[in-house]
Amino acid sequence: MPELPEVETVCRQLNAVISGLTVQSISTLDTAKLADFSDRTGRKVENVKRQGKHIVLHFDDDQNMIVHLRMTGRFLWQTTGTEPLKHVRMIMAFPPGQIAFIDPRRFMTITKGDLPQNNVMDPLTDMTPRRLAEKGKNSKRPIKTFLMDQAIIAGIGNIYACEILYHAGINPVRLVNTISSEQWPEIVRIARQILERAIVCRGSSISDWRDFYGNEGTFHHEHRVYGHKGLPCPQCQNAILRTTIGGRGTYFCPQCQT
Ligand SMILES: [Zn+2]
Repeated sequence: MPELPEVETVCRQLNAVISGLTVQSISTLDTAKLADFSDRTGRKVENVKRQGKHIVLHFDDDQNMIVHLRMTGRFLWQTTGTEPLKHVRMIMAFPPGQIAFIDPRRFMTITKGDLPQNNVMDPLTDMTPRRLAEKGKNSKRPIKTFLMDQAIIAGIGNIYACEILYHAGINPVRLVNTISSEQWPEIVRIARQILERAIVCRGSSISDWRDFYGNEGTFHHEHRVYGHKGLPCPQCQNAILRTTIGGRGTYFCPQCQT
């Protein structure tokens, strides 16, 4: 499932390619699940931005097209040849090439209009230690579940929650209300550092994630604990453990994370 780094990667790649271009045609293939967007034909894309895990295409008539990739959605840029692909749900064509909206499991959503306003924090912009501490002060949930709560923080999923907590030296089962006032700034700093590094790497391709050009990301080569059950911890050489928190496989070092 794409998390913040993967969504930010595709937003940056989309922005670089289609900003300033006019839509030649747009066709919905999966008409059972997706709306008709043919009114976008002839409109110019002004920019593409990420809001949380939403991808927002903004057009020259002030309208938005808002995409959420959900489980298996992705965009693919095609220029020459346009070899037939499986699971294409929509095609958006521009003079130099076309975007195939690919989604095997068909959970991707594409909507029009404005984004709902909310108080969800973005780890790269407005997530602060004070706001996190305020949200967490009475919470007796595990810290990992808290970091992954999309109603509190946008875009941190299972992979990045495991990696952030490893680098912060915090056990994923620690209850949120036991996180100290010195640890919240560490969590914010490390979350930003890891997510920004993962964006540079164009995300983690542990399953089917591919970027706008069909390439794998490379951040999974830098994972320290995620998927590393039984392998030595890079810091202390003890074996990485796997447990389940909130139904999700969770990897951590019992020695380095307390
Ligand atoms: Zn360790």
